[in-house]
Amino acid sequence: MLLKATAEVAAGYLYVKVFEQVMHQYVLHGSGKSKESVWSFHFHDHHKAATKYGMIDPAYFEPWFYNSSRSKEVGSLVGAVALHLPLAKKYPFFVATVALGAANYYHKHKKSHTVPEWAWENMQNHVKHHLLDQDAYWGVTSGWVDKLVGTAPKVSQEELDQLWRFYMGRCNAAKKKLDESAQERYAEHKKEFFNSLEAMTRKWYSILK
Ligand SMILES: [Zn+2]
Ligand SMILES: [Zn+2]
Repeated sequence: MLLKATAEVAAGYLYVKVFEQVMHQYVLHGSGKSKESVWSFHFHDHHKAATKYGMIDPAYFEPWFYNSSRSKEVGSLVGAVALHLPLAKKYPFFVATVALGAANYYHKHKKSHTVPEWAWENMQNHVKHHLLDQDAYWGVTSGWVDKLVGTAPKVSQEELDQLWRFYMGRCNAAKKKLDESAQERYAEHKKEFFNSLEAMTRKWYSILK
């Protein structure tokens, strides 16, 4: 039993990393390069913002259900886990590892685009994908599959330092404006929410009256 569980967790871990790589390379970039594709949010919205603001994507400052790119990301992750559920009866630990992998992806990807300093420390492969070469470094939560298949070109420390200075400059220059507009959007969403709550209460009240 313990051996089976360990094997399932190990297989699940490897599977998640390969799945992440393949989806990112062939679906998000492959199909997503066309503006008409449902996957276009990654290449056309997310990449654009991350380049402009040195890894920050302002979409992550809004609740996910108010932002279409983020809703699509959440939807794809939930869908990917759901796709594996039929295997849960036979391989529960494998499916649990896939679900944890999806949650881990969401958390790390979001943090890498809200706290760029953290991303440079902990998610360098993804930073390189966004800021150095968007046709390489496909692994998001780790870079070992790229190293294995040869899609992680070597970069010198000097080049990385230059990249850091350039993009952190961009990010710091935009930070104040981004914080302000995030607060404005938050206030708007709050107003929208209370307005719809009020309308709903009024409707119920008129039905019950
Ligand atoms: Zn990408
Ligand atoms: Zn990203």
